[in-house]
Amino acid sequence: MSKRLFFGPDPERSRLRATVTSIEKALHELPSDAAGTKDLQDSFSSLVTQLALGPEPELRQCPNCSYFGMRAASVCGHCWTKLVPPASIEN
Ligand SMILES: [Zn+2]
Repeated sequence: MSKRLFFGPDPERSRLRATVTSIEKALHELPSDAAGTKDLQDSFSSLVTQLALGPEPELRQCPNCSYFGMRAASVCGHCWTKLVPPASIEN
């Protein structure tokens, strides 16, 4: 699919987030007194800030038209179908 027909989760950003998370984990496992660890952590932290990925968006799909909208939305932004609040789905 070369053209995105709907707004949905961005797979590239999701992959970047996953990579950032795994590097962060690896950095935290480095001995904190090793030479260069602090510099590496600081540089990586700066990189993460510049990427500005933000949190993984909480999205869900409209059961009526399959449009991706914010998880907390009470109506679909595309077809205006009323959506059940997430809390009553989970409980
Ligand atoms: Zn919809």
